[in-house]
Amino acid sequence: LCVHDEAAALADEQRAQLVEELKVLLHSPDAADDLEAGRVVVHYQPQLSAAGHVAGTEALVRWDNPRLGLLTPDRFLDLVEEHALMPDLTAQVVWLAVHQAKRWQHDGHDLRMSVNLSASCLSHPRLLVMVDDVLAETGLDPANLVVEVTETSLMADPQESIARLRDLAARGVDISIDDYGSGYSSLAYLHDLPATELKLDRSLTEQVTTNPRTADIVAGTVALAHRLGLRVIAEGVEDTATLAQLHALGCDETQGYLHARPMSADACHAWLTTAGTTRPVELAADAR
Ligand code: C2E
Ligand code: MG
Ligand code: MG
Ligand code: MG
Repeated sequence: LCVHDEAAALADEQRAQLVEELKVLLHSPDAADDLEAGRVVVHYQPQLSAAGHVAGTEALVRWDNPRLGLLTPDRFLDLVEEHALMPDLTAQVVWLAVHQAKRWQHDGHDLRMSVNLSASCLSHPRLLVMVDDVLAETGLDPANLVVEVTETSLMADPQESIARLRDLAARGVDISIDDYGSGYSSLAYLHDLPATELKLDRSLTEQVTTNPRTADIVAGTVALAHRLGLRVIAEGVEDTATLAQLHALGCDETQGYLHARPMSADACHAWLTTAGTTRPVELAADAR
């Protein structure tokens, strides 16, 4: 075996072990019963209005793995998808996030809760039942739940996806188009979607102060989105110059490391409490 093959064999072995653990984590029928797999954890990242008001949080999944510690989605989501475990993972994330939203509301924080849905979840027959159940169980106002879907995931089966999003919208759930501008963004399908929010991808945000063409694209996109009645949020905001530019270009809300990194429920709770209902932009800049 040459060094390259050995490395590849090791990587395969590690992936195989992660898959076994994932099956346990997500209660798959063919899971081993003697394996420790840790737990699904959700971190929350605040979304701020232009006035500095905390408008919502995005739920971002983590896997607290007993061998490897806290894993971010780039380490395991492709395996989850590959082994058809995404609906089970999403059910846990949505359950945790909606219960958390309800708890924060109870504490006086009027926030939206955004969750990410992949294509395989959008087309899953139990999606609507799962959403209905968790909303009924918690009594969360559906308007406070936002479902983020990417353009790419919609393209897998546009008719089916749009039908499912209409079902969600009919329940009063908000729909956000995530990572907008990262792929083959087509303005053509926007008018068919019951979306309420457009989420500008970090690749646009990143260049908005340095590339005048990007700034023009963002300005045009914001104008179009507003004409269609959509709220615009920019993700990946890391510095105050970018924040100022996004506000100048008409973005309604921003999310990014400048305001806060994704945090555990407890850390986010503390952050929300110290932030109060408004958080001056100057303060946010110091909070890094
Ligand atoms: P996303 O939905 O576009 O989420 C934004 C990602 O950007 C998050 O990465 C977040 O931590 C990161 N981020 C936020 N602010 C900044 C910033 O200022 N700078 C930079 N460089 N990055 C920032 P994360 O948590 O690793 O999630 C990655 C992706 O995994 C998400 O992208 C989403 O597509 C997916 N994902 C996360 N949780 C779930 C889930 O529960 N279900 C599904 N289907 N996908 C999920
Ligand atoms: Mg997202
Ligand atoms: Mg995104
Ligand atoms: Mg993104």
